[in-house]
Amino acid sequence: MERRSGSTLPWLVAGGAVAAAWLVWRRMQQPYYPGVALQAGLEMVSRRYRVLAIGPHPGDLELFAGGTLRLLSQNGSAVTMAVLSRGERATNRANIGEIRAREAEQAAAILRAELIQLDLPDGRIRPGPDLERALDDLWIRTRPELVLAFDPKGPVPLGQNPDHLALGAAVLARARSSISRGERIYFYAARHPNVLVDITEVMQEKLNAVKAHRSQLRGPDWAVSLFNRYVCRLHTGRVPAMYAEPFYRLV
Ligand SMILES: [Zn+2]
Repeated sequence: MERRSGSTLPWLVAGGAVAAAWLVWRRMQQPYYPGVALQAGLEMVSRRYRVLAIGPHPGDLELFAGGTLRLLSQNGSAVTMAVLSRGERATNRANIGEIRAREAEQAAAILRAELIQLDLPDGRIRPGPDLERALDDLWIRTRPELVLAFDPKGPVPLGQNPDHLALGAAVLARARSSISRGERIYFYAARHPNVLVDITEVMQEKLNAVKAHRSQLRGPDWAVSLFNRYVCRLHTGRVPAMYAEPFYRLV
């Protein structure tokens, strides 16, 4: 009896530590005004807009905003997903750029969005003339009323991908400049969200879109689902939504 309790104690302590870390982390992720954020999310997806969602690499939009994009399109918005690079640095397979472009097509079809695939260099997207030109072109082609881009601060303080931050910084600079036409700007992967979109009814479509990026998935199917469901519950501690995607609305 004593021996058994001795061997279970470390497991109980470890389990308790994990549970405590989860609760603290989850508490830190809640919006300051959760009810207002949820209402703002409902308003975001229930009107019709020309939507331009920009992702640095294939798969980013699906992971961070896939449910929201599907809700927008099924509610009548015209959604364009623009992917800046082909993600060719993901592995050293010769034709990885083509494989990822095909996966991006499948994911866009699941989310009922148009896909624009650009060819900026994966891993070397930086603020500057090339990125500016790409954004100018996207604005001309889609005339967006609502824009989604990566949060310029990133979702966590450390280990950020510079491509992600470059996109966020460029869209932020654009929104502050004289060329802005007052588009609504929402940053996904937001660290301090002020908008929560309840994606519970389209969670399966989001998972399907994420899983379309087969070449990038590690681990079994159930683990991919579990991880994504976990991420979509990080911000829902104080709102009556099972799964949500967080955004920071700039204007
Ligand atoms: Zn990325």
